[in-house]
Parts: sequence; structure tokens; C-alpha cells
Amino acid sequence: MPTVRSPHESTVAVDGLQKGVDMTRNPITEVADDVYRIERAATNCYLVVDDGITLVDAGLPRMWPLLVEALGHIGAGPDDIDAVVLTHAHFDHVGLCDRLVHEHHTPIHVHDRDRMLARHPYTYRHERARLTYPFRHPSSVGVLARMVAAGALGVKGVHAEGGVNPGQPLDVPGGLVPIWSPGHTAGHCGYLLPSAGVLFSGDALVTLDPYTGGRGPRIVAGAATADSAMALERLGALSATGAGVVLPGHGDAWRAGIESAVAEARAVGQR
Ligand SMILES: [Zn+2]
Ligand SMILES: [Zn+2]
Repeated sequence: MPTVRSPHESTVAVDGLQKGVDMTRNPITEVADDVYRIERAATNCYLVVDDGITLVDAGLPRMWPLLVEALGHIGAGPDDIDAVVLTHAHFDHVGLCDRLVHEHHTPIHVHDRDRMLARHPYTYRHERARLTYPFRHPSSVGVLARMVAAGALGVKGVHAEGGVNPGQPLDVPGGLVPIWSPGHTAGHCGYLLPSAGVLFSGDALVTLDPYTGGRGPRIVAGAATADSAMALERLGALSATGAGVVLPGHGDAWRAGIESAVAEARAVGQR
């Protein structure tokens, strides 16, 4: 299906796609072979192109034009997405699902423990009051405002299928392997793309926390995390994948391996 290929480790733009360059400069970037990052408002989703296309996480509603543009670069359209897999079902990870389901009949997969959250993506548990964060962490204000501009207040719930069993490869393009990593939500899973040594870490480990503006590997603040102690403990499961490249739900790729990312996140600890 993919008709556009860029040479590995190239730093030239290929049909608007950049590789090996500062990823904040372009909302659509090939971040690993046949893996495309789509970014808006510090929120990521990823296209995995294999014998079909899997969308990992579904961002915010107004990322739709970017999704269509990214698909266009590989000669595809929304109908060509075979499946959406969600690391978890917070509103900023399900924003494109409603349109994909109703206009393109795309199946959505999430761990059973986050299926209810997928239907009601704002009714999530968190340890700390969200309202105080922008006051204590002024650098988060810009990020949160951009999330609102990207449709963060208008996300519709969606029916998601289960069938996500930790350790068992999913029957989706890329054969993603769910990595059980609850704590941020009750059903959070990372996904390992075995062929590329790439780990989609979702919000179990991010490199930019929207709630504090903090950069570098870390768990998400208690404003949006259900159980920080569990989240920190379960980072071990991510580390055990030995993935070389970490692609988080928020922030840039981490290319120094998952073990060093987990070590840094544990050093930062709970916020
Ligand atoms: Zn989240
Ligand atoms: Zn998130």
C-alpha cells in the first residue's frame, strides 16, 4: 500500500515528511521505518504501515486534516485504516474515533478495563485536582489552550472492542503486542512493534507532560493519572521490552532506549 518511501536516517524532506530532524517543526513525521507521527497540541497519534494500516491512538478531533494528509502521503485514505488501537481511552486519545467509526467503520481496540472510559472519555479517575495545575505550572497553560483549540472539549465517546490481551500480538497490521502498563488508567497498555523495536508508550511514559509542561521522560501528573505509584512500578514492564525507540502519547520520540527513559521517569517520580 505505501507508495512513498524515504531512505532510512535521511534528513531530507520527502513529500513534506521529515526524517531525523526536529520533529516539532512538522506535524507529520516519519519517526521510524513505516511509522508516522501525527502531532498537534503536544498530542501524538501514529500510523503503522505494514500489510495494511493501524492507527495507534486517535488524538483530538481537529487532527482529522492532519490524519488525511498523512494518509495521503502514503497513497491511502481513511478507509484504508484497518484498525485503531488505543493505549488508553482518555479524551485526548480517542478524538478521531467517532468519525472513523461512523464514516469509515473502523474497528477500535482497547483493553477491557478502558472500554467504559472510551464511551465516556472525560469521566476518568485522577489523584489531584486539575484546576490548580495551570497556576502551579504556568508553562502548561499554552499546551492546554492548544489542546482546547484542537477540540479537546468536544470529544465524543465511542464503542470500542476488547480483544487486547497483554503479551498476545493483536491481529492488526504491524502485529502490535500489548504491554500491560496500568496506573495512568486502569486499562493502559503500551504497544510494541516487534519488527522495528519501537514501543508506543502512550501516557504510561511521556516526554512532555501537558499538565505541568515538564519535558523529558516521566509519568503524567496526578492531574490525569489514576494511580501514580502503580504507574511508576509498572514502568518495569515497558523496560522489559528492550525497545530502542519510544514513541509517547505526548512529546517527542525518545531514541536512547526504553531502559534509560524508565530510569529518568523514575528519577522524576510523581508530580
Ligand atoms: Zn492519558
Ligand atoms: Zn494523553
